[in-house]
Amino acid sequence: MTTIGNNIQLVRARMAQACERAGRPPASVALLAVSKTFGPEAVYAAAQAGQRAFGENYIQEAVEKMAAVRALPPLPAPALEWHCIGPIQSNKTRPVAEHFDWAHTVDRLKTAQRLSDQRPAHLPPLMVCIQVNVDGGATKSGVPPEEAVALARAVAQLPRLRLRGVMSIPDPAPDFEAQCALHRRVRAVFDAIVAAGGPGLEAFDTLSLGMTADLEAAVQAGSTLVRVGSGIFGARSYAQAG
Ligand SMILES: *Cc1c(COP(=O)(O)O)cnc(C)c1O
Repeated sequence: MTTIGNNIQLVRARMAQACERAGRPPASVALLAVSKTFGPEAVYAAAQAGQRAFGENYIQEAVEKMAAVRALPPLPAPALEWHCIGPIQSNKTRPVAEHFDWAHTVDRLKTAQRLSDQRPAHLPPLMVCIQVNVDGGATKSGVPPEEAVALARAVAQLPRLRLRGVMSIPDPAPDFEAQCALHRRVRAVFDAIVAAGGPGLEAFDTLSLGMTADLEAAVQAGSTLVRVGSGIFGARSYAQAG
């Protein structure tokens, strides 16, 4: 087995153990492989190990990588699924709307409106998460928790988007308990949106939370989708990032 395939097994074992500790079924948490800065051959190796969902931060890099992977020998179904997990400037919405399956980082209604307007008619609705900032100042991406319900209710009504959940990138914390405390704040925002209800929330089921360093705490807090990069692909060299 390749190193990448082996790493995926190790990450899946961590996820299963975290689910067991949290008293949750192992199938309740999915794995997003974060392939930013790694090339199409790394994605392909992960796909050959059965991985189908990939997260990318840099839109141009991602669009080129998608084409490069498509040029490789066909992979068995189901098709790869591409998630945009990087910041989306409002002048960069079109390639996200045209090429991705998911966008996790919606934190302004204007961005959401543009994504909805620009989503091509031949594609299914774009799956979106609201990015929440539970621990940063005004310079950190994400909507403050107290504004999240209103934003979610507005985004949920856009015709070419499907609101799927909440995403967050809490700052690194020193230990498991401190990580859990931050992650529980994100979970509280998720619960508040469910409690508020409203049209367009039928598919709201995703808590995109946890990375290589803190996936156990995220699962403890209720994450349904952990985003793991270095744990699968190794350390990143940001010099390659576009
Ligand atoms: C890079 C990145 C990840 C993966 O981080 P690792 O620590 O390598 O697992 C997850 N989520 C987001 C938003 C990222 O930018």
